[in-house]
Amino acid sequence: MDSPRSALRIAIVGGGIGGLAAALFLRRVGIVATVYEQAGALREVGAGLVVPPNMVRPLRRLGLGDALERIAVRLEAAWEFRRWQDGRVLFVQPMGEACEQLYGAACYVAHRADLLQLLQQALPPEQLRLDHRCSAVRVGSNGRGVELTFARRDGASVAVQADAAIGADGIHSLLRELIAPAADARFSGLCAFRCLVPASQAPEMALRPVQSLWLGPGRHFVHYPISGGRLVNVVAIVPAGAWQRESWSATGEIADLRAEFVGWDARVLQLIDSATDTKRWAMVDRSPLERWTAGPLTLLGDAAHAMLPFFAQGAAQAIEDAEALAHCLQGVADPAALPAALQRYESLRRPRASQVQLMSRGRELRNHLADGPEQQQRDAELARGDPLRQSAWLYGHERATDGADGPGR
Ligand SMILES: Cc1cc2nc3c(=O)[nH]c(=O)nc-3n(C[C@H](O)[C@H](O)[C@H](O)COP(=O)(O)OP(=O)(O)OC[C@H]3O[C@@H](n4cnc5c(N)ncnc54)[C@H](O)[C@@H]3O)c2cc1C
Repeated sequence: MDSPRSALRIAIVGGGIGGLAAALFLRRVGIVATVYEQAGALREVGAGLVVPPNMVRPLRRLGLGDALERIAVRLEAAWEFRRWQDGRVLFVQPMGEACEQLYGAACYVAHRADLLQLLQQALPPEQLRLDHRCSAVRVGSNGRGVELTFARRDGASVAVQADAAIGADGIHSLLRELIAPAADARFSGLCAFRCLVPASQAPEMALRPVQSLWLGPGRHFVHYPISGGRLVNVVAIVPAGAWQRESWSATGEIADLRAEFVGWDARVLQLIDSATDTKRWAMVDRSPLERWTAGPLTLLGDAAHAMLPFFAQGAAQAIEDAEALAHCLQGVADPAALPAALQRYESLRRPRASQVQLMSRGRELRNHLADGPEQQQRDAELARGDPLRQSAWLYGHERATDGADGPGR
C-alpha cells in the first residue's frame, strides 16, 4: 500500500475485472475496500479478451506487467483483415514495436479467466468475500452511508454498513437500477459463437500472434491465440435469428456454427472443425446512462457502460474507471465528502466511456457488408488506413486526471 491507510469503508459489489481492479487501485491510495462477489469461486468462465495499451499501462502501474507478460500473448499484428471467400489479406496492422513507441505499451490478448486470476492473486484474500450476492442496497436517510444486504447459498443473510458502495456488478447491475433505473438492455440482432481450440488441434495460421478478422456478408470471424499460445480463441459474430439467450455460458452447436460459414475459405472451416464445443450468446448492450452516481453510490465497468465487443474495450474501460475512481477518492477522509468525489469520478469517466459505448455500436454494419460497391470501397479504405495512429484517442488516453492524453507514465 503506497499511502497511509484510510478509515473509509468502501463496498464493491461484483468481483469481475472491474471490481477487482478497483480494489487494487484503491489499495494503492490507502483505501482498503471489500469486494463482494456472488459466485462461490472465481471460476474459469469466458474466453479471450483483447488487452489494449490503455489497459496494459494501468495494469503495469498495479505492478502486474510481468504477470501479464506471462499469461497473455503479445500481438505482433492486429487487425489482419481478410476476405471471407479466399482469405486474401485486405490490410494488416503491425502492432508490437510500433504500438510500444506510440502508446508506451503493446497490445495483448488473454483468457478472461487468466486475467481475473491475476487480479485476484494481487488482492489480499480478506478483501474478497465470495458467495455474497447483493440483494438489497439502502442509502441512509440523510443521503449518507449505505447498508447492503447479501444472500449466501446456505440461506444466511449478511448486512454490511459502508460509507460508499461501488456497483461493479456487470450488465444486469442491481445498483444501476437504483441510480439510473430506466435503462433497458438493447438486443443487437446478432449472436456470438465462441470456442477455445487447443493449439495442438488448430491450423498453423491460427497460432501466429495475430488477431485475424475475416469479413464476409452478414457475419465476421475472429481468432487469436491466448493463454501463452496454448489455446486459440475463436469468436464468430452472426445474425441471431431466433437465438436470444443472453448468457456467457449458454452452449451452442458446432454444426450450427459451421453452417453459418459454408462457402468460406477452407482455413475458417478447418478452425471450426477443430473445435469440440462452442458457447453461444445473444449480444446486447445498453445506451449511455444519464448518470452513474447518486449520493454514496456509483457504478463502474459493464454496470455503467455495457457495450458491444467491436472495439474490444469492455475490460479496458472498466480498468480505466477503476484507476480514475481511486484517483478521485485519494485523500478523502470525511465520508461526507464522498458524494462529491464520486461525482467527480463520474464527470471524468462518463463522457469517454459513453463515446466508446456508442462507437462500438453499428460497427458490425461495416464488417458485414455484402459483396458489392460498398464492400469494395470499404476494402480500399482499409488498405489505405492507419488504424494504429487513428486509435490515439482510444489507446493513448491517460487516466483523465487532468484531461491530457498521451502514453504517460
Ligand atoms: C461470465 C462472464 C464471461 C465473460 N466472457 C467474456 C468474453 O469471453 N469476452 C469478452 O470480451 N468479455 C467477456 N465478459 C465481459 C467482460 O469480462 C467485461 O466486459 C469486462 O471485463 C468488464 O467487467 P466488469 O467487472 O465490469 O463486469 P463483469 O465481468 O460482468 O463482472 C461483474 C461481476 O459481478 C458479479 N455480480 C453480479 N451481480 C452481483 C450481485 N448482485 N452481487 C454480487 N456480485 C454480483 C458477477 O458474478 C461478476 O463476477 C464476460 C463476463 C462474464 C461475467
